[in-house]
Amino acid sequence: MDYQAVLDEVAAYARPYAGQGEVADYIPALERVSPDRFGIALVDIGGAVYGAGDWETPFSVQSISKAFSLALVMAHAHDDDIWSRVGREPSGTPFNSLVQLEWENGIPRNPFINAGALVVTDRLQTLTGDASTTMLHFLREESGNEDLAFDQAVADSEADHGNRNAALAHFMASFGNLENPVPSVIEHYFWQCSIEMSCRDLATAGGFLARHGLRADGTRLLEAREAKRINAVMLTCGTYDAAGEFAYRVGLPAKSGVGGGILAVVPGRCTLCVWSPGLDRRGNSVAGAAALDHFTTLTGWSVF
Ligand code: GLU
Repeated sequence: MDYQAVLDEVAAYARPYAGQGEVADYIPALERVSPDRFGIALVDIGGAVYGAGDWETPFSVQSISKAFSLALVMAHAHDDDIWSRVGREPSGTPFNSLVQLEWENGIPRNPFINAGALVVTDRLQTLTGDASTTMLHFLREESGNEDLAFDQAVADSEADHGNRNAALAHFMASFGNLENPVPSVIEHYFWQCSIEMSCRDLATAGGFLARHGLRADGTRLLEAREAKRINAVMLTCGTYDAAGEFAYRVGLPAKSGVGGGILAVVPGRCTLCVWSPGLDRRGNSVAGAAALDHFTTLTGWSVF
């Protein structure tokens, strides 16, 4: 497969969609990004890297970090009982919804809605003593980019407008489903979401998901069954409450973020990351979803 030719064709197809949708503005610092950016990167399981468009421009990873925090909890405590504290079913409600938590006694539906991600960050904080720094160091190592950093303006902006996330955390604490103080959990969560990475960085860092748990250097981060489980939860819950639509169009495990990025995995072959800041009403990048749709159409590499 001539990956570069495929990416060039995918980029040409998706570029007209860049600029469609709305840039997230509920975190004011995210609004500064120009909506018409578009980039795509592909890293094969041997580590060869390809890209098109703005594939080396850093953006705010936001919820894509949730896939990595789940992986880190599994890597730090294989067979952790995290699944007694968070489910693994699609939510069908918005990513920051409070109502479902009330019905389900403070146990979030899955680790990729905000409530579930707060539980995972809480667990990582207990396991490591510093969840967000652990995540930053991990992403530097897996991406090979030592310059990765938190974006303080984004983290501060999110904290300034973080009442809903604080509410989710307090609500779960009231059910006994947090191990650490609420202010510490939400602070680490905001920091992990604020990390800036490019498509190249993210596709490289996520390689262990395509290699059934192996890092680029051949050492094992996760058991194969753990990587399988993360990919499964990405497929069913990784693109907000549009995971069904995304499976229908793209058919790959993926995790999106409100910064406009989507990390996607073709198990056994490669990882992809697309970025374009315009979001559809569910919160997924319009041009990013179009690009991945076209990618699996061209290659036939949907998992279905
Ligand atoms: N930090 C964002 C929030 O909690 C993440 C949202 C997202 O990317 O889904 O609202």
